[in-house]
Amino acid sequence: MSWSERQRLMLQEMGLRVWAPVESEAPAAAVPEAPPAPPAATALPPDDRAAAIAAMPWSALREAVAQCTACGLCQSRRQTVFGVGHANAHWMIVGEAPGEQEDLKGEPFVGAAGHLLDSMLRALNLTRDEAPPERQVYIANTLKCRPPRNRNPEPEELARCEPFLMRQIELIRPRLILAMGRFAVHSLLRSSEPIGKLRGRVHRYQGVPLVVTYHPAYLLRNLADKSRAWDDLCLAAQVADASPSSSSAAAASPR
Ligand code: URA
Repeated sequence: MSWSERQRLMLQEMGLRVWAPVESEAPAAAVPEAPPAPPAATALPPDDRAAAIAAMPWSALREAVAQCTACGLCQSRRQTVFGVGHANAHWMIVGEAPGEQEDLKGEPFVGAAGHLLDSMLRALNLTRDEAPPERQVYIANTLKCRPPRNRNPEPEELARCEPFLMRQIELIRPRLILAMGRFAVHSLLRSSEPIGKLRGRVHRYQGVPLVVTYHPAYLLRNLADKSRAWDDLCLAAQVADASPSSSSAAAASPR
């Protein structure tokens, strides 16, 4: 990939500080609110529910997430956290689950880990703010509701929530999925191998190239792995640049 002078300077400067949290940014949701549609999948048996979700356009999907009571997390959440970004984004970032700030704001990655993620994106000339689809990413989580006290997601919760993420990926058909942290990685790849073993190569999720990296919250506690994460981002950028446009009928859906 080629770097602009600004990016080169930024990279020079980064050392291990490049992704230090940035306080001043107030990320905006980039996919405007869609008109509500009737929830279609709430009380269906699991297979029928998954099939119903797999056929949803954006508006119905958003509403189904907002109304979801498929697991116990609906009882403790303040609100669901659907996802933000360009509906035709080339890059899709998948994290774990909303934390306290995300549960308050209804947007993924707005706490400390989110500031680090924004810095990582900025170093790649990417953003969650409004921009063309090659620059504006889409960010979503494996779980749409905050687990109480930020505990780890449970297998049943991941299973119930998975059809939503699958449908988001299907609608966006990104050129590249960047899976951050073990819950995203293990859910998408159906693997239980450690991140350290899965990173450094290109996987596939439903035909979409997928690159594995550490979760930003982990990087905040493990500075030494930031350089490895940077290698992962460079690999992801190469793949996204090389990947042909994977347009689908869904890509033209309203945002
Ligand atoms: N961590 C995640 O994985 N997702 C968020 O949205 C926030 C923190």
